[in-house]
Amino acid sequence: MNSILSDRILNMEESATLAMAKKARELKSQGIDIISLSLGEPDFKTPKHIQQAAKDAIDEGKYFAYPPVAGYQDLREAIAKKLREENNITQAKAENIVVSVGAKHSIANTFMCLLNEGDEVVIFSPYWVSYAEIIKLCGGVPVLIEGNLENNFKATAAQLEAAITPKTKAVIYSSPCNPTGSVFSQTELEAIAEVVKKHPNMVVIADEIYELINFTGKNFSIASIPGMFERTVTVNGFSKGYAMTGWRVGYICAPLEIAKAVEKMQGQFTSGNTGIAQRAALAGIAGDQTPSKEMAEQYLKRRDLVLGLLRDIPGIKTHVPEGAFYFFPDVTAFFGKSAHGHTVSNADDLCIYLLAVANVSLVTGGAFGAPNCVRISYAASEADLIEALKRIKKALGDLA
Ligand code: PMP
Ligand code: GLU
Repeated sequence: MNSILSDRILNMEESATLAMAKKARELKSQGIDIISLSLGEPDFKTPKHIQQAAKDAIDEGKYFAYPPVAGYQDLREAIAKKLREENNITQAKAENIVVSVGAKHSIANTFMCLLNEGDEVVIFSPYWVSYAEIIKLCGGVPVLIEGNLENNFKATAAQLEAAITPKTKAVIYSSPCNPTGSVFSQTELEAIAEVVKKHPNMVVIADEIYELINFTGKNFSIASIPGMFERTVTVNGFSKGYAMTGWRVGYICAPLEIAKAVEKMQGQFTSGNTGIAQRAALAGIAGDQTPSKEMAEQYLKRRDLVLGLLRDIPGIKTHVPEGAFYFFPDVTAFFGKSAHGHTVSNADDLCIYLLAVANVSLVTGGAFGAPNCVRISYAASEADLIEALKRIKKALGDLA
């Protein structure tokens, strides 16, 4: 029998990050001692002053009605001010900002508004799992340009140039990058901007959601380059830097035509984001930044810890991530080997093997466009990281 469901949903892949997290939760609930390093989710609590702002918002009783579709004016102004002052995006005004239900929603809105059937979107690969599926859902065609371990997984402006065709509508990257933790330098982004400027109908989607977890000390926004504001959608949100994944607040800063279109789209799909979550986000962006800085310091410590532990595992090849909270090692050395009734032919198999034998959940690189790698999230306690890497080392050592 034909399915009652649309081709749209039947053709869509499930999010591999969320699927792996679900699997880990299920095994945990059966009493199995799983260490989950699959989900990119801070293990810290949302800072106290942000929690307090949400409580105050409830007590004030003013934020229970439908909020404006694009977000409260004061929140949009605070975001624009931050983008002007910290990201040097000098043209950013409240009218360019649309607040949505997480950055994932911001990205989906943006592609819904930009893509016609058959339009191509160049994706810097390895890439965050949801980009390609959202692009396809919107009728677009993902075109991957690939970085590799040798160049810190950063595809180049020359590769971008070679991938552009008359159908190219947009290019998307994340920096700091999920899944690799790589950070594009100012020089690299300037080179990318030079290429984009040659194509008047092309838009850049710059996903800066890991901006506050950047160990290089320098965050550079492509929209700050002269001539780029007009053709860039800067995506950001509160999930990572403010440990607010469950509050669901993200935003874009876009040229007016795109911002208005996204507001119109959102007006038909979700309306404005939850009022209380928006008041919490305002306290995050306009308030004390110390907790975010302290969390970033902790991530750096953990990065160094995991780096040391990974280097101690024969066969693992890794670069040194400069931001976010992921390692993305190459695991090809284990392909073709067997142990404990499992044969590992690829990174998918390796993740299944490690879940079954080491009770550690990771995500296969295949979900991010790099089937020779696995993603390890180190947004976990030091004790869990040490134990997980010990188990991984033992299980990998058993493969022969
Ligand atoms: N972009 C990247 C690169 C991500 O890793 C994530 C994962 N949270 C998102 C966007 C979406 O974030 P959220 O919807 O939680 O704001
Ligand atoms: N972005 C995070 C990750 O990559 C959260 C899960 C998701 O939204 O995909 O793990």
